[in-house]
Amino acid sequence: NLPLDALHFDNRFVRELPGDPEPDNYRRQVYQACYSWVSPTQVRRPHLVAFSAEMAEKLDLTPEICTSADFAAVFAGNRLTTGMQPYASCYGGHQFGHWAGQLGDGRAINLGEVVNRQGEYLTLQLKGAGLTPYSRSADGLAVLRSSIREFLCSEAMHHLGVPTTRALSIVLSGEQVRRDMFYDGNPQLEPGAIVCRVAPSFTRFGSFQIFTARDDLQSLKQLADYTIRTDFPHIQASGSAAYLEWFADVCQKTADMIVHWQRVGFVHGVMNTDNMSILGLTIDYGPYGWLENYDPEWTPNTTDAQGRRYRFGNQPKIAYWNLVQLANAIYPLVKRAEPLQQALSVYTARFEQGWQNMMAAKLGLQAFNIETDPVLIDDLAKLLQLAEVDMTLFYRGLANFNADSDDSRFFNWLEECSYQTLTDENQALAGLWLRSYQARLRQDAWPDHQRRTAMNAVNPLYVLRNYLAQQAIDQAEQGDYGLVAELLEILRHPYQEQIGKHHFTGKRPDWAKHRAGCSMLSCSS
Ligand code: AMP
Ligand code: MG
Ligand code: MG
Repeated sequence: NLPLDALHFDNRFVRELPGDPEPDNYRRQVYQACYSWVSPTQVRRPHLVAFSAEMAEKLDLTPEICTSADFAAVFAGNRLTTGMQPYASCYGGHQFGHWAGQLGDGRAINLGEVVNRQGEYLTLQLKGAGLTPYSRSADGLAVLRSSIREFLCSEAMHHLGVPTTRALSIVLSGEQVRRDMFYDGNPQLEPGAIVCRVAPSFTRFGSFQIFTARDDLQSLKQLADYTIRTDFPHIQASGSAAYLEWFADVCQKTADMIVHWQRVGFVHGVMNTDNMSILGLTIDYGPYGWLENYDPEWTPNTTDAQGRRYRFGNQPKIAYWNLVQLANAIYPLVKRAEPLQQALSVYTARFEQGWQNMMAAKLGLQAFNIETDPVLIDDLAKLLQLAEVDMTLFYRGLANFNADSDDSRFFNWLEECSYQTLTDENQALAGLWLRSYQARLRQDAWPDHQRRTAMNAVNPLYVLRNYLAQQAIDQAEQGDYGLVAELLEILRHPYQEQIGKHHFTGKRPDWAKHRAGCSMLSCSS
Protein backbone atom coordinates (compact mmCIF):
# COMPACT_ATOMS: atom_id res chain seq x y z
CA ASN A 1 0.00 0.00 0.00
CA LEU A 2 1.28 3.44 -0.98
CA PRO A 3 0.43 6.58 1.06
CA LEU A 4 -2.32 7.64 -1.36
CA ASP A 5 -4.13 4.38 -0.71
CA ALA A 6 -4.99 5.85 2.68
CA LEU A 7 -7.50 8.21 1.01
CA HIS A 8 -10.88 7.01 2.16
CA PHE A 9 -13.59 6.82 -0.49
CA ASP A 10 -17.32 6.52 -0.11
CA ASN A 11 -18.71 6.70 -3.63
CA ARG A 12 -22.33 7.60 -3.03
CA PHE A 13 -23.00 9.01 -6.50
CA VAL A 14 -22.29 5.78 -8.35
CA ARG A 15 -23.72 3.61 -5.60
CA GLU A 16 -27.05 5.36 -5.31
CA LEU A 17 -27.76 6.58 -8.81
CA PRO A 18 -28.54 4.68 -12.01
CA GLY A 19 -25.47 3.91 -14.13
CA ASP A 20 -24.83 3.01 -17.73
CA PRO A 21 -24.44 -0.77 -18.12
CA GLU A 22 -22.05 -0.44 -21.11
CA PRO A 23 -18.48 -0.94 -19.90
CA ASP A 24 -16.62 0.75 -22.77
CA ASN A 25 -15.49 4.29 -23.52
CA TYR A 26 -16.89 4.54 -27.06
CA ARG A 27 -18.81 7.71 -27.87
CA ARG A 28 -22.55 7.34 -27.70
CA GLN A 29 -25.85 8.58 -26.35
CA VAL A 30 -26.30 7.27 -22.83
CA TYR A 31 -29.89 6.81 -21.62
CA GLN A 32 -31.43 6.39 -18.18
CA ALA A 33 -28.11 6.81 -16.45
CA CYS A 34 -26.37 9.52 -14.45
CA TYR A 35 -22.91 8.22 -15.31
CA SER A 36 -20.78 5.77 -17.27
CA TRP A 37 -17.80 3.81 -16.01
CA VAL A 38 -14.58 4.92 -17.68
CA SER A 39 -10.88 4.34 -17.22
CA PRO A 40 -8.51 7.28 -17.41
CA THR A 41 -6.13 6.97 -20.36
CA GLN A 42 -2.61 5.92 -19.44
CA VAL A 43 -0.12 8.67 -20.18
CA ARG A 44 3.54 8.47 -21.03
CA ARG A 45 5.35 10.54 -18.45
CA PRO A 46 3.41 12.11 -15.55
CA HIS A 47 5.23 15.09 -14.11
CA LEU A 48 3.97 17.38 -11.35
CA VAL A 49 3.70 21.06 -12.27
CA ALA A 50 2.03 22.40 -9.13
CA PHE A 51 -0.17 21.42 -6.23
CA SER A 52 -2.23 23.39 -3.76
CA ALA A 53 -0.88 22.63 -0.29
CA GLU A 54 -4.07 23.89 1.23
CA MET A 55 -6.32 21.68 -0.85
CA ALA A 56 -3.97 18.78 -0.12
CA GLU A 57 -4.29 19.43 3.58
CA LYS A 58 -8.06 19.36 3.29
CA LEU A 59 -7.64 15.89 1.80
CA ASP A 60 -5.27 14.93 4.63
CA LEU A 61 -2.31 14.74 2.23
CA THR A 62 1.14 15.98 3.25
CA PRO A 63 3.46 17.96 0.91
CA GLU A 64 5.79 14.91 0.89
CA ILE A 65 3.00 12.77 -0.53
CA CYS A 66 2.14 15.45 -3.10
CA THR A 67 5.68 15.56 -4.47
CA SER A 68 6.02 11.77 -4.70
CA ALA A 69 6.10 9.97 -8.04
CA ASP A 70 2.98 8.10 -7.02
CA PHE A 71 1.04 11.34 -6.62
CA ALA A 72 1.87 12.37 -10.20
CA ALA A 73 0.91 8.90 -11.43
CA VAL A 74 -2.40 8.90 -9.57
CA PHE A 75 -3.39 12.44 -10.58
CA ALA A 76 -2.42 11.82 -14.18
CA GLY A 77 -4.86 8.90 -14.13
CA ASN A 78 -2.17 6.19 -14.41
CA ARG A 79 -2.91 4.47 -11.13
CA LEU A 80 -6.16 4.00 -9.25
CA THR A 81 -5.85 3.96 -5.48
CA THR A 82 -7.88 1.67 -3.28
CA GLY A 83 -11.50 2.76 -3.42
CA MET A 84 -11.40 4.81 -6.63
CA GLN A 85 -14.22 4.00 -9.09
CA PRO A 86 -13.74 6.27 -12.10
CA TYR A 87 -16.78 7.50 -14.00
CA ALA A 88 -17.93 10.26 -16.33
CA SER A 89 -21.29 11.86 -15.69
CA CYS A 90 -24.08 12.44 -18.17
CA TYR A 91 -25.58 15.89 -18.63
CA GLY A 92 -27.02 18.14 -21.28
CA GLY A 93 -27.27 21.87 -21.59
CA HIS A 94 -28.21 25.03 -23.37
CA GLN A 95 -25.18 26.41 -25.15
CA PHE A 96 -25.39 30.09 -26.12
CA GLY A 97 -29.14 29.97 -25.66
CA HIS A 98 -29.83 26.80 -27.67
CA TRP A 99 -30.56 23.31 -26.43
CA ALA A 100 -27.53 21.20 -27.30
CA GLY A 101 -28.69 17.74 -26.23
CA GLN A 102 -26.31 15.37 -24.49
CA LEU A 103 -22.98 16.88 -23.48
CA GLY A 104 -21.60 15.15 -20.38
CA ASP A 105 -18.10 14.83 -19.00
CA GLY A 106 -16.28 14.75 -22.32
CA ARG A 107 -12.91 15.10 -20.74
CA ALA A 108 -13.58 14.96 -17.04
CA ILE A 109 -13.28 11.72 -15.12
CA ASN A 110 -14.43 11.53 -11.52
CA LEU A 111 -12.25 9.30 -9.37
CA GLY A 112 -14.66 9.06 -6.48
CA GLU A 113 -15.75 10.79 -3.30
CA VAL A 114 -13.14 11.21 -0.61
CA VAL A 115 -14.35 11.49 2.96
CA ASN A 116 -11.76 13.50 4.86
CA ARG A 117 -11.01 13.43 8.57
CA GLN A 118 -13.63 16.13 9.12
CA GLY A 119 -16.19 13.87 7.49
CA GLU A 120 -16.55 16.15 4.45
CA TYR A 121 -17.28 14.59 1.07
CA LEU A 122 -15.05 15.84 -1.73
CA THR A 123 -15.31 14.51 -5.25
CA LEU A 124 -11.97 14.27 -7.06
CA GLN A 125 -12.19 14.89 -10.78
CA LEU A 126 -9.46 14.69 -13.41
CA LYS A 127 -9.88 17.13 -16.28
CA GLY A 128 -8.11 16.07 -19.45
CA ALA A 129 -7.67 12.38 -18.61
CA GLY A 130 -8.90 10.99 -21.92
CA LEU A 131 -11.95 9.89 -23.87
CA THR A 132 -15.31 9.13 -22.34
CA PRO A 133 -18.67 8.22 -23.92
CA TYR A 134 -19.40 11.97 -23.81
CA SER A 135 -16.34 13.15 -25.76
CA ARG A 136 -18.35 13.69 -28.96
CA SER A 137 -15.89 14.74 -31.71
CA ALA A 138 -13.16 15.94 -29.32
CA ASP A 139 -10.12 14.23 -27.79
CA GLY A 140 -10.84 14.20 -24.06
CA LEU A 141 -7.59 16.01 -23.36
CA ALA A 142 -6.51 19.37 -21.96
CA VAL A 143 -3.38 21.43 -22.50
CA LEU A 144 -0.97 22.95 -20.00
CA ARG A 145 -2.13 26.49 -20.89
CA SER A 146 -5.76 25.97 -19.94
CA SER A 147 -4.86 23.73 -17.01
CA ILE A 148 -2.76 26.47 -15.42
CA ARG A 149 -5.59 28.93 -15.99
CA GLU A 150 -8.09 26.62 -14.29
CA PHE A 151 -5.78 25.67 -11.43
CA LEU A 152 -4.72 29.21 -10.53
CA CYS A 153 -8.10 30.81 -10.99
CA SER A 154 -10.09 28.34 -8.96
CA GLU A 155 -7.71 28.70 -6.02
CA ALA A 156 -7.64 32.50 -6.44
CA MET A 157 -11.44 32.68 -6.48
CA HIS A 158 -11.67 30.64 -3.31
CA HIS A 159 -9.41 33.08 -1.48
CA LEU A 160 -11.33 36.04 -2.85
CA GLY A 161 -14.34 34.57 -1.09
CA VAL A 162 -16.11 33.53 -4.28
CA PRO A 163 -17.87 30.13 -4.19
CA THR A 164 -15.96 27.85 -6.55
CA THR A 165 -14.78 24.37 -7.33
CA ARG A 166 -11.16 23.99 -6.28
CA ALA A 167 -8.01 22.46 -7.66
CA LEU A 168 -5.53 20.05 -6.11
CA SER A 169 -2.89 19.62 -8.79
CA ILE A 170 -1.63 20.02 -12.33
CA VAL A 171 0.30 17.13 -13.82
CA LEU A 172 1.93 17.10 -17.25
CA SER A 173 1.03 14.00 -19.22
CA GLY A 174 4.25 13.90 -21.23
CA GLU A 175 2.16 13.85 -24.43
CA GLN A 176 1.61 16.50 -27.06
CA VAL A 177 -1.95 17.62 -27.77
CA ARG A 178 -3.16 19.18 -31.02
CA ARG A 179 -5.13 22.39 -30.70
CA ASP A 180 -6.58 24.87 -33.18
CA MET A 181 -5.02 27.88 -31.64
CA PHE A 182 -5.70 31.52 -32.23
CA TYR A 183 -2.11 32.44 -33.25
CA ASP A 184 -2.39 31.83 -36.99
CA GLY A 185 -5.36 29.53 -37.44
CA ASN A 186 -3.11 26.47 -37.89
CA PRO A 187 -3.20 23.54 -35.47
CA GLN A 188 -0.43 23.62 -32.90
CA LEU A 189 1.03 20.95 -30.68
CA GLU A 190 0.91 21.85 -27.02
CA PRO A 191 1.94 20.00 -23.85
CA GLY A 192 -0.93 17.96 -22.43
CA ALA A 193 -1.84 18.30 -18.77
CA ILE A 194 -4.40 17.10 -16.26
CA VAL A 195 -5.91 19.14 -13.45
CA CYS A 196 -7.44 17.47 -10.44
CA ARG A 197 -10.53 19.49 -9.51
CA VAL A 198 -12.27 19.12 -6.18
CA ALA A 199 -15.84 19.94 -5.15
CA PRO A 200 -18.55 18.55 -2.90
CA SER A 201 -20.48 17.87 -6.11
CA PHE A 202 -20.03 18.51 -9.82
CA THR A 203 -23.74 18.27 -10.61
CA ARG A 204 -24.90 20.96 -13.04
CA PHE A 205 -28.22 22.44 -14.13
CA GLY A 206 -27.76 20.38 -17.30
CA SER A 207 -27.58 17.18 -15.24
CA PHE A 208 -31.34 17.58 -14.62
CA GLN A 209 -32.18 19.05 -18.01
CA ILE A 210 -30.99 15.98 -19.90
CA PHE A 211 -33.58 13.71 -18.24
CA THR A 212 -36.50 16.06 -18.73
CA ALA A 213 -35.55 16.57 -22.37
CA ARG A 214 -35.67 12.79 -22.80
CA ASP A 215 -38.84 12.44 -20.80
CA ASP A 216 -37.00 10.19 -18.35
CA LEU A 217 -38.79 11.34 -15.24
CA GLN A 218 -37.67 8.42 -13.15
CA SER A 219 -33.98 9.31 -13.49
CA LEU A 220 -34.84 12.98 -12.98
CA LYS A 221 -36.49 12.21 -9.69
CA GLN A 222 -33.67 9.94 -8.58
CA LEU A 223 -31.06 12.61 -9.22
CA ALA A 224 -33.13 15.36 -7.58
CA ASP A 225 -33.83 13.26 -4.48
CA TYR A 226 -30.18 12.26 -4.26
CA THR A 227 -28.99 15.86 -4.64
CA ILE A 228 -31.34 17.11 -1.94
CA ARG A 229 -30.31 14.29 0.40
CA THR A 230 -26.56 14.69 -0.06
CA ASP A 231 -25.97 18.35 -0.92
CA PHE A 232 -28.97 20.06 0.71
CA PRO A 233 -29.38 17.99 3.88
CA HIS A 234 -31.02 20.89 5.74
CA ILE A 235 -34.16 20.45 3.60
CA GLN A 236 -36.64 18.52 5.70
CA ALA A 237 -39.76 18.85 3.55
CA SER A 238 -40.87 16.06 1.23
CA GLY A 239 -42.66 15.83 -2.09
CA SER A 240 -43.05 18.96 -4.18
CA ALA A 241 -42.42 21.19 -1.16
CA ALA A 242 -38.91 19.75 -0.97
CA TYR A 243 -38.26 20.39 -4.67
CA LEU A 244 -39.48 23.98 -4.33
CA GLU A 245 -37.39 24.66 -1.25
CA TRP A 246 -34.40 23.16 -3.00
CA PHE A 247 -34.92 25.22 -6.14
CA ALA A 248 -35.28 28.42 -4.10
CA ASP A 249 -32.02 27.55 -2.38
CA VAL A 250 -30.29 27.06 -5.74
CA CYS A 251 -31.63 30.48 -6.81
CA GLN A 252 -30.21 32.03 -3.67
CA LYS A 253 -26.80 30.39 -4.01
CA THR A 254 -26.60 31.36 -7.66
CA ALA A 255 -27.47 34.97 -6.84
CA ASP A 256 -24.74 35.09 -4.21
CA MET A 257 -22.17 33.72 -6.66
CA ILE A 258 -23.05 36.31 -9.30
CA VAL A 259 -22.84 39.16 -6.78
CA HIS A 260 -19.29 38.01 -6.02
CA TRP A 261 -18.37 37.83 -9.72
CA GLN A 262 -19.57 41.41 -10.17
CA ARG A 263 -17.67 42.48 -7.07
CA VAL A 264 -14.30 41.20 -8.21
CA GLY A 265 -14.70 41.82 -11.96
CA PHE A 266 -14.74 38.18 -13.03
CA VAL A 267 -16.26 37.29 -16.40
CA HIS A 268 -16.96 33.58 -16.75
CA GLY A 269 -17.22 33.67 -20.53
CA VAL A 270 -19.30 30.50 -21.07
CA MET A 271 -22.36 30.58 -18.83
CA ASN A 272 -24.05 27.68 -20.60
CA THR A 273 -26.40 25.67 -18.40
CA ASP A 274 -23.94 22.76 -18.39
CA ASN A 275 -21.48 25.13 -16.70
CA MET A 276 -23.83 26.10 -13.86
CA SER A 277 -23.24 24.23 -10.63
CA ILE A 278 -26.24 23.14 -8.59
CA LEU A 279 -24.30 24.29 -5.52
CA GLY A 280 -23.77 27.79 -6.91
CA LEU A 281 -20.05 27.21 -7.34
CA THR A 282 -18.06 28.85 -10.10
CA ILE A 283 -17.30 25.91 -12.35
CA ASP A 284 -15.48 25.18 -15.59
CA TYR A 285 -12.77 27.78 -16.05
CA GLY A 286 -12.35 28.14 -19.79
CA PRO A 287 -12.15 31.45 -21.67
CA TYR A 288 -12.82 33.46 -18.50
CA GLY A 289 -11.24 36.83 -17.88
CA TRP A 290 -10.86 39.68 -15.41
CA LEU A 291 -12.05 43.16 -16.15
CA GLU A 292 -9.12 45.51 -16.49
CA ASN A 293 -10.54 48.78 -17.83
CA TYR A 294 -14.08 48.76 -16.47
CA ASP A 295 -16.44 47.83 -19.30
CA PRO A 296 -19.77 46.09 -18.81
CA GLU A 297 -19.76 45.16 -22.52
CA TRP A 298 -16.58 43.14 -22.27
CA THR A 299 -16.40 39.39 -22.83
CA PRO A 300 -13.13 37.47 -22.94
CA ASN A 301 -14.57 34.71 -25.12
CA THR A 302 -13.84 35.09 -28.85
CA THR A 303 -16.71 32.69 -29.59
CA ASP A 304 -19.04 35.19 -27.90
CA ALA A 305 -17.56 38.33 -29.44
CA GLN A 306 -20.55 38.86 -31.76
CA GLY A 307 -23.58 38.45 -29.50
CA ARG A 308 -21.74 39.24 -26.27
CA ARG A 309 -24.29 37.08 -24.49
CA TYR A 310 -21.85 36.43 -21.66
CA ARG A 311 -20.45 39.96 -21.24
CA PHE A 312 -19.73 41.24 -17.74
CA GLY A 313 -22.86 43.35 -17.44
CA ASN A 314 -25.12 40.56 -18.65
CA GLN A 315 -24.05 37.89 -16.14
CA PRO A 316 -26.88 38.58 -13.66
CA LYS A 317 -29.53 38.24 -16.39
CA ILE A 318 -27.97 35.11 -17.85
CA ALA A 319 -27.88 33.44 -14.46
CA TYR A 320 -31.62 34.11 -14.22
CA TRP A 321 -32.20 32.75 -17.71
CA ASN A 322 -30.28 29.62 -16.74
CA LEU A 323 -32.37 29.24 -13.59
CA VAL A 324 -35.50 29.42 -15.75
CA GLN A 325 -34.13 26.46 -17.71
CA LEU A 326 -33.56 24.60 -14.46
CA ALA A 327 -37.12 25.44 -13.39
CA ASN A 328 -38.38 23.97 -16.66
CA ALA A 329 -36.30 20.87 -16.03
CA ILE A 330 -37.73 20.21 -12.58
CA TYR A 331 -41.28 21.23 -13.52
CA PRO A 332 -42.35 17.57 -13.90
CA LEU A 333 -41.49 17.04 -10.22
CA VAL A 334 -43.61 19.99 -9.08
CA LYS A 335 -46.24 20.15 -11.82
CA ARG A 336 -47.23 23.71 -10.94
CA ALA A 337 -45.71 26.75 -12.60
CA GLU A 338 -46.77 29.39 -10.10
CA PRO A 339 -44.68 28.28 -7.09
CA LEU A 340 -41.66 27.76 -9.35
CA GLN A 341 -42.13 31.28 -10.63
CA GLN A 342 -42.26 32.46 -7.05
CA ALA A 343 -39.05 30.64 -6.21
CA LEU A 344 -37.41 32.32 -9.21
CA SER A 345 -38.22 35.68 -7.70
CA VAL A 346 -35.93 34.64 -4.83
CA TYR A 347 -33.09 35.06 -7.29
CA THR A 348 -34.14 38.55 -8.31
CA ALA A 349 -34.65 39.75 -4.75
CA ARG A 350 -31.52 38.11 -3.41
CA PHE A 351 -29.38 39.43 -6.24
CA GLU A 352 -30.74 42.96 -5.96
CA GLN A 353 -30.21 43.07 -2.21
CA GLY A 354 -26.80 41.43 -2.45
CA TRP A 355 -25.67 43.71 -5.24
CA GLN A 356 -26.69 46.83 -3.33
CA ASN A 357 -24.88 45.70 -0.19
CA MET A 358 -21.85 44.75 -2.24
CA MET A 359 -21.66 48.07 -4.07
CA ALA A 360 -22.08 50.00 -0.83
CA ALA A 361 -19.24 47.96 0.67
CA LYS A 362 -16.98 48.56 -2.33
CA LEU A 363 -17.56 52.29 -1.99
CA GLY A 364 -17.02 52.28 1.76
CA LEU A 365 -20.61 53.12 2.67
CA GLN A 366 -22.09 51.64 5.80
CA ALA A 367 -25.36 50.82 4.06
CA PHE A 368 -26.90 51.27 0.65
CA ASN A 369 -29.10 54.36 0.43
CA ILE A 370 -31.78 53.83 -2.18
CA GLU A 371 -32.30 57.61 -2.56
CA THR A 372 -28.75 58.65 -3.36
CA ASP A 373 -26.66 55.61 -4.21
CA PRO A 374 -28.11 54.37 -7.51
CA VAL A 375 -27.12 57.66 -9.15
CA LEU A 376 -23.73 57.71 -7.45
CA ILE A 377 -23.00 54.18 -8.68
CA ASP A 378 -24.34 54.85 -12.15
CA ASP A 379 -22.26 57.99 -12.58
CA LEU A 380 -19.19 56.15 -11.40
CA ALA A 381 -19.77 53.32 -13.86
CA LYS A 382 -19.99 55.87 -16.69
CA LEU A 383 -16.82 57.60 -15.56
CA LEU A 384 -14.84 54.38 -15.20
CA GLN A 385 -15.97 53.23 -18.61
CA LEU A 386 -15.35 56.53 -20.41
CA ALA A 387 -11.96 57.08 -18.84
CA GLU A 388 -10.97 53.39 -19.24
CA VAL A 389 -10.11 53.03 -15.58
CA ASP A 390 -8.77 49.75 -14.19
CA MET A 391 -11.56 48.41 -12.00
CA THR A 392 -9.38 46.59 -9.46
CA LEU A 393 -6.96 49.46 -8.98
CA PHE A 394 -9.73 52.02 -8.75
CA TYR A 395 -11.67 50.43 -5.94
CA ARG A 396 -8.58 49.45 -4.02
CA GLY A 397 -7.21 52.96 -4.22
CA LEU A 398 -10.50 54.68 -3.45
CA ALA A 399 -10.01 53.79 0.20
CA ASN A 400 -7.15 56.31 0.29
CA PHE A 401 -9.47 59.25 -0.35
CA ASN A 402 -11.84 60.85 2.10
CA ALA A 403 -14.38 63.65 2.43
CA ASP A 404 -11.62 66.27 2.37
CA SER A 405 -9.29 64.95 -0.36
CA ASP A 406 -8.59 67.52 -3.04
CA ASP A 407 -9.54 67.14 -6.68
CA SER A 408 -6.06 67.22 -8.15
CA ARG A 409 -4.83 64.25 -6.17
CA PHE A 410 -7.93 62.32 -7.25
CA PHE A 411 -7.40 63.24 -10.92
CA ASN A 412 -3.72 62.28 -10.83
CA TRP A 413 -4.50 58.97 -9.32
CA LEU A 414 -7.39 58.32 -11.70
CA GLU A 415 -5.02 58.88 -14.59
CA GLU A 416 -2.49 56.55 -13.00
CA CYS A 417 -4.93 53.67 -13.02
CA SER A 418 -6.50 54.38 -16.40
CA TYR A 419 -5.55 53.14 -19.87
CA GLN A 420 -5.77 56.59 -21.50
CA THR A 421 -4.90 60.15 -20.57
CA LEU A 422 -7.59 61.96 -18.65
CA THR A 423 -9.46 64.27 -21.04
CA ASP A 424 -10.95 67.57 -19.89
CA GLU A 425 -14.46 66.14 -20.23
CA ASN A 426 -13.61 63.10 -18.12
CA GLN A 427 -11.84 65.27 -15.57
CA ALA A 428 -14.98 67.36 -15.25
CA LEU A 429 -17.04 64.19 -14.73
CA ALA A 430 -14.53 62.96 -12.19
CA GLY A 431 -14.76 66.24 -10.29
CA LEU A 432 -18.53 66.08 -10.16
CA TRP A 433 -18.46 62.48 -9.03
CA LEU A 434 -15.88 63.12 -6.33
CA ARG A 435 -18.04 65.90 -4.88
CA SER A 436 -21.13 63.73 -4.65
CA TYR A 437 -19.06 60.89 -3.21
CA GLN A 438 -17.60 63.19 -0.59
CA ALA A 439 -21.04 64.51 0.29
CA ARG A 440 -22.15 60.91 0.72
CA LEU A 441 -19.14 60.13 2.95
CA ARG A 442 -19.96 63.11 5.16
CA GLN A 443 -23.49 61.85 5.51
CA ASP A 444 -22.10 58.47 6.65
CA ALA A 445 -19.52 59.96 9.02
CA TRP A 446 -17.65 56.66 9.26
CA PRO A 447 -14.12 57.18 10.63
CA ASP A 448 -11.60 57.00 7.73
CA HIS A 449 -9.49 54.19 9.15
CA GLN A 450 -12.53 52.01 9.76
CA ARG A 451 -13.89 52.70 6.32
CA ARG A 452 -10.52 51.92 4.74
CA THR A 453 -10.24 48.59 6.55
CA ALA A 454 -13.76 47.64 5.49
CA MET A 455 -13.12 48.62 1.86
CA ASN A 456 -9.84 46.72 1.69
CA ALA A 457 -11.64 43.60 2.83
CA VAL A 458 -13.92 43.58 -0.22
CA ASN A 459 -11.76 45.29 -2.87
CA PRO A 460 -8.90 42.94 -3.73
CA LEU A 461 -5.39 44.14 -4.46
CA TYR A 462 -4.26 40.97 -6.25
CA VAL A 463 -6.37 39.31 -8.93
CA LEU A 464 -5.32 36.85 -11.62
CA ARG A 465 -4.96 39.42 -14.35
CA ASN A 466 -5.13 37.83 -17.77
CA TYR A 467 -1.56 38.77 -18.62
CA LEU A 468 -0.21 37.41 -15.32
CA ALA A 469 -1.74 34.01 -16.04
CA GLN A 470 -0.23 34.19 -19.53
CA GLN A 471 3.25 34.97 -18.18
CA ALA A 472 3.01 31.99 -15.85
CA ILE A 473 1.97 29.87 -18.84
CA ASP A 474 4.81 31.13 -21.05
CA GLN A 475 7.35 30.23 -18.38
CA ALA A 476 5.77 26.88 -17.61
CA GLU A 477 5.86 25.96 -21.29
CA GLN A 478 9.63 26.49 -21.03
CA GLY A 479 9.74 24.15 -18.02
CA ASP A 480 9.85 26.84 -15.33
CA TYR A 481 6.95 26.52 -12.87
CA GLY A 482 8.20 29.24 -10.52
CA LEU A 483 5.63 31.84 -11.50
CA VAL A 484 2.75 29.36 -11.20
CA ALA A 485 3.83 28.66 -7.62
CA GLU A 486 4.43 32.34 -6.85
CA LEU A 487 1.03 33.41 -8.17
CA LEU A 488 -0.67 30.59 -6.28
CA GLU A 489 0.93 31.88 -3.08
CA ILE A 490 0.22 35.59 -3.68
CA LEU A 491 -3.39 34.90 -4.59
CA ARG A 492 -3.94 33.16 -1.26
CA HIS A 493 -4.04 36.62 0.35
CA PRO A 494 -5.65 38.85 -2.26
CA TYR A 495 -6.73 41.57 0.17
CA GLN A 496 -3.45 41.87 2.01
CA GLU A 497 -0.55 44.00 0.82
CA GLN A 498 2.49 41.74 0.37
CA ILE A 499 6.06 42.98 0.65
CA GLY A 500 8.00 42.83 -2.61
CA LYS A 501 4.92 41.87 -4.65
CA HIS A 502 3.94 45.32 -5.84
CA HIS A 503 4.63 44.42 -9.48
CA PHE A 504 1.71 41.98 -9.37
CA THR A 505 -0.74 44.80 -8.68
CA GLY A 506 -0.04 46.96 -11.71
CA LYS A 507 -2.44 47.62 -14.55
CA ARG A 508 -2.16 45.61 -17.74
CA PRO A 509 1.02 46.59 -19.62
CA ASP A 510 0.68 47.88 -23.19
CA TRP A 511 2.19 44.78 -24.76
CA ALA A 512 -0.59 42.64 -23.30
CA LYS A 513 -3.49 44.51 -24.84
CA HIS A 514 -3.59 42.59 -28.09
CA ARG A 515 -1.49 39.59 -27.24
CA ALA A 516 -3.30 36.23 -27.55
CA GLY A 517 -4.19 34.82 -24.14
CA CYS A 518 -3.94 38.22 -22.47
CA SER A 519 -7.24 39.67 -23.56
CA MET A 520 -9.39 37.50 -25.78
CA LEU A 521 -9.46 33.71 -25.46
CA SER A 522 -10.96 30.95 -27.50
CA CYS A 523 -12.78 27.92 -26.12
CA SER A 524 -9.96 25.76 -27.50
CA SER A 525 -8.39 24.40 -24.37
P1 AMP B 1 -17.26 23.54 -22.19
O1 AMP B 1 -17.62 24.59 -23.19
O2 AMP B 1 -15.81 23.52 -21.83
O3 AMP B 1 -18.11 23.61 -20.97
O4 AMP B 1 -17.53 22.13 -22.87
C1 AMP B 1 -18.76 21.76 -23.39
C2 AMP B 1 -18.80 20.27 -23.59
O5 AMP B 1 -17.75 19.86 -24.46
C3 AMP B 1 -18.66 19.46 -22.31
O6 AMP B 1 -19.48 18.34 -22.43
C4 AMP B 1 -17.20 19.07 -22.33
O7 AMP B 1 -16.97 17.90 -21.60
C5 AMP B 1 -16.94 18.89 -23.81
N1 AMP B 1 -15.53 19.10 -24.17
C6 AMP B 1 -14.84 20.26 -24.16
N2 AMP B 1 -13.57 20.06 -24.55
C7 AMP B 1 -13.43 18.74 -24.79
C8 AMP B 1 -12.36 17.91 -25.23
N3 AMP B 1 -11.15 18.38 -25.50
N4 AMP B 1 -12.61 16.59 -25.37
C9 AMP B 1 -13.84 16.08 -25.12
N5 AMP B 1 -14.87 16.79 -24.73
C10 AMP B 1 -14.69 18.12 -24.56
MG1 MG C 1 -18.29 22.63 -19.33
MG1 MG D 1 -14.52 23.88 -20.48
